[in-house]
Amino acid sequence: MTVAQNDTAAPAPSDFIRDIVAQHVAEKRYAKIVTRFPPEPNGYLHIGHAKSICLNFGIARENNGQCNLRFDDTNPTKEDVEYVDSILADVKWLIGGWADDRIGFKPADATPVSRTVDGKQDFFLPAILPADAAGAKLAPFHASDYFDQLYECAVALIRKGQAFVCDLNAEEMDKYRGAPDKPGRESPFRNRSISENLDLFARMKAGEFPDGARTLRAKIDMTAPNVWLRDPVLYRIRHADHHQTGGKWCIYPMYDFAHCVSDYIEGITHSICTLEFEVHRPLYDWILTNLDLPRPLPHQYEFARLNIGYTVMSKRKLMQLVQEKLVCGWDDPRMPTICGLRRRGVPASALRRFAYNIGVTKFNSLTDVAVLEHAIRDELNPSALRRLAVLDPVKLVLTNLPAGQVIECDAVNNPQDENPTTRKVALTREVYIDRDDFTETPPPKYFRLKPGGEVRLKYACIIKCDEVVKDATGQVVELRCTADLETRSGGLNAGRKVKGTIHWVSATHCLDAEVRLYDRLFTVAEPDAEGDFKQHLNPRSLAVVTAKLESSLQDARPDQRYQFERLGYFALDPVDSPPGASRLVFNRTITLKDTWGKAAG
Ligand code: ATP
Ligand code: MG
Repeated sequence: MTVAQNDTAAPAPSDFIRDIVAQHVAEKRYAKIVTRFPPEPNGYLHIGHAKSICLNFGIARENNGQCNLRFDDTNPTKEDVEYVDSILADVKWLIGGWADDRIGFKPADATPVSRTVDGKQDFFLPAILPADAAGAKLAPFHASDYFDQLYECAVALIRKGQAFVCDLNAEEMDKYRGAPDKPGRESPFRNRSISENLDLFARMKAGEFPDGARTLRAKIDMTAPNVWLRDPVLYRIRHADHHQTGGKWCIYPMYDFAHCVSDYIEGITHSICTLEFEVHRPLYDWILTNLDLPRPLPHQYEFARLNIGYTVMSKRKLMQLVQEKLVCGWDDPRMPTICGLRRRGVPASALRRFAYNIGVTKFNSLTDVAVLEHAIRDELNPSALRRLAVLDPVKLVLTNLPAGQVIECDAVNNPQDENPTTRKVALTREVYIDRDDFTETPPPKYFRLKPGGEVRLKYACIIKCDEVVKDATGQVVELRCTADLETRSGGLNAGRKVKGTIHWVSATHCLDAEVRLYDRLFTVAEPDAEGDFKQHLNPRSLAVVTAKLESSLQDARPDQRYQFERLGYFALDPVDSPPGASRLVFNRTITLKDTWGKAAG
């Protein structure tokens, strides 16, 4: 389905997850719909995460619910505050203005509570903001905030005889686990007494054993067809400082244990994740059920992850591109990261539109990058200011205009506006046009400039090419033309038509700017289908040119998007051309039309 330009007002899309939520709302099953987006801070977010963010925050928004931005920070050795900060910035940017901050963040001082309800142990985070909490200091959620509660839960499972301390090392554990078609074998440590397990687990926490010496495992079923139920590890020893909890812990919970308990503590109703977690769902349910908790349990629902052609979509691979300096960083505008797309000039609303357009399904597939490109163009077309720019300039002299004469032409800022405004652009004796708007050997139906031919200079007048000047190598260095000034708007021959209209800028009233032109990062649709994905990098994914821009772009703003007429959509590079910088650097966000098919063919 398509979404109106102002997507805050657009009707919500429908999909199988939203159908489930709607059913639960109709049944009044929950007091409030609560979802979460749980990134692991071990890399930067990519556009696949954007799909998950739009889904989780979207469902919360549509149901007056809440979506917790939760750092799934249980693996201290792979995590870093750099990633925490970037994720926070990316999520805020992506949902900013679309969803209330308060649906993603908690009061900064909210702390989890452990309590007993009807003889049952409960854990609870009072994170729901009162309506008048505007201005309260807000903070994201962290799984690490619940390390105390997670520890208590682990102890509770030990007390029930449902978890044990195991001394097998990782390699031995693999052997004991069996295979999907072969049952596993029980660990020789499985039948330790509850008191011995309690003692050993406390000593694991106290730091008595080195990394890898022992684990805490759930006691489920070593013959279960689902290998995730074969006594999975719940806790491991890692003598490592954590970016949130410092040196307090030397044992850390595994994802499967931390995730479901964190969901419960936060009162999540719908825990939405990608399909590869479907096989983990029985374990998710087993842990929560066996903790014997007093409040309604969260449930996990899975959808197909986003894969897009001509790029890679895994933090690990994107990390390789950054570390091996194959791109200029996580925010390289060719990267499928949220910060890369932002730097390239893609508006947040375009990513949300894209997420809506692709929908949510149960089947993995490869999304055509053209779908993303469409969403970007649809978003930029109504709002981008039209400007004149020349990327590959060749000089054109209007021989019948005296040097020094300036003719002010009215140029439309955006024809999509209800009441389009105009600005003045200077027509002078010397102008620049783009080199490929002229040819000496025109193919059939060539409507741009050729020797003896006529074109209209956009917003100005019709010109005729009288003479082609070349240098010693045969390269065209100047086109000498006559301007028919009566074909200007308001002139005697204003109505005279020619087939071609080209863009131009005055050679004496223009600016130089660095313009970066991007192409797809990879030359094949599925770079990671076989072999090393890096061998498919597109050597021509970046071209840098010195362009000539109309002088009004001197005042270009970082938050404004521009359409350089006939060339595409452009934005100032926020890193290399920040406000007040002495040089102008523009990124081409996207071309006006999909030219890839032609170029590749
Ligand atoms: P990657 O596989 O790219 O390294 P990840 O799954 O390890 O990513 P997490 O930080 O664990 O990254 O992801 C946070 C959330 O985003 C999870 O709920 C995950 O299911 C979801 N997610 C990750 N990748 C995609 C994707 N390509 N499409 C949709 N959702 C995704
Ligand atoms: Mg993950």
